[in-house]
Amino acid sequence: MALSPDRLDRFARHIVLPEVGGVGQVALAEAHVVLIGCGGIGSPALQYLAAAGVGRLTLIDDDVVDLSNLQRQTVFAEADLGRPKAQAAADWVARFDAALECKAVVGRITADNAAELLAGADLVLDGCDNFATRLAVSDACVRLGIPLTSAAVGRFQGQVANFAGHLEGQSCYRCFVGDAFDAEDCDTCAADGVLGALVGMMGAFAAMQAIRVILAGKTELGDPQWGRLHLFEGLVPSLRTMKIAKDPDCRGCSGEA
Ligand SMILES: [Zn+2]
Repeated sequence: MALSPDRLDRFARHIVLPEVGGVGQVALAEAHVVLIGCGGIGSPALQYLAAAGVGRLTLIDDDVVDLSNLQRQTVFAEADLGRPKAQAAADWVARFDAALECKAVVGRITADNAAELLAGADLVLDGCDNFATRLAVSDACVRLGIPLTSAAVGRFQGQVANFAGHLEGQSCYRCFVGDAFDAEDCDTCAADGVLGALVGMMGAFAAMQAIRVILAGKTELGDPQWGRLHLFEGLVPSLRTMKIAKDPDCRGCSGEA
């Protein structure tokens, strides 16, 4: 793929970075990212992935835009209230950059339909709000050999990690959280609250980590940092990183799934 003169202009600030460059920009343009959840994490992640020129986006969300979402879900406006989030978010992408291919899937991803919905993705970015979906998505990514950028928030804390449980010796999201949450559908935001700006940081952080995966093996920024969980504490701002070890008994990535 060759970038047209207007695309070279549009992405000039990326291309001038030696760690991205023209090679990286082409890799972004050729990438297909599936976003799970167009909410607080998905909105800014989507905005920065689209702004970065990720050529194909699939947006999966079964929810509709509610007034209480506007405190943090930055792609939506009052005119979107009551509309399916995936469709409203896809409309935002179409307005933002007509050159990007964007598909909205209004529905919930589950263990039963994950293979079909994720097929052909280069990366899945999961910013959904419940463990059952996160685990189903993680298991599907391992089975399909797709890298996963996982992001989650609660109150003043956020976490972001890249997983590649399909690769030898690399952990998956299930190695991190275990099996206890499969049946649990806990949207803790509603009960516990969450600071909008913190969600925005984690969504943008997830987009950055996703870009590392897309550039892996192509440019210097392409270090996916598999299995490294970055934990951000927002009350007294601090970031720490921990390595998620592969669980030899994990039913997601150790051959028994
Ligand atoms: Zn695992």
